[in-house]
Amino acid sequence: MSSHALPDIDALNKYLESIDGISYIVAEEGFLVYWSNDLGEEDAEKMIALAVDLKNVLTNTMGIGGEEFYWTSISIAGRNTGIAYLGASLILIVISDKKELVSSVLDNIMRSVRGEKIKCGWCGGDLTLKTIVCPSCGKRLPIGLGTCPLCGARITIVKCPLCGKPVSVMGRKIVYRRRKGDTAAGIVFLAVAIGFAVAGIIKALAGELVSLPLFLASGIIGWMSAQAFSHKVPVEEKP
Ligand SMILES: [Zn+2]
Ligand SMILES: [Zn+2]
Repeated sequence: MSSHALPDIDALNKYLESIDGISYIVAEEGFLVYWSNDLGEEDAEKMIALAVDLKNVLTNTMGIGGEEFYWTSISIAGRNTGIAYLGASLILIVISDKKELVSSVLDNIMRSVRGEKIKCGWCGGDLTLKTIVCPSCGKRLPIGLGTCPLCGARITIVKCPLCGKPVSVMGRKIVYRRRKGDTAAGIVFLAVAIGFAVAGIIKALAGELVSLPLFLASGIIGWMSAQAFSHKVPVEEKP
């Protein structure tokens, strides 16, 4: 167990406080330390007593030791409740209508305890216990979710909460690249635009009015060429 690093209790509170759509409780040595505003102190204390009892049951029936780091989920009054036991003294409870939110939050805390960091591909910052903003509903979520549990939108690109650069949900760099097909289309459009322009110049020198629509066509096709050249798609960079 020596590889485990017990997270700072204030940092954990700050992390849990920054996530939308969850209620939470933090207890140390069986005593309530932090709890979210939507929970009453009495209810929070009852939950802690329940978590302590559950831990005793798990220890006695499954042989899970007091120093271990794990989390378990139960349903209390129809709500998804995750109880994390961090070593001998720290207990975290996360409650949400959304199951994925509970597991994502507690998985990230376990990752952090084990030192398995989710790092930003751009700035190298540790994002494991940072929140990202859902690009669709604007709610603050734990990092790592491919779908927003609160609005159902798919999440592929998020802003790094530290440097603001685009990253995947696992922190990988997102770069914008031009596709080969777009480059080819840009070259074709450009060649056609130049052709129309040259024809326009020749007709204009000959004093023919047809030069005007030729110049117009050249302009439109030239603009399409610029669009094709500037069109880039997001690509996740492999580490
Ligand atoms: Zn959302
Ligand atoms: Zn970053």
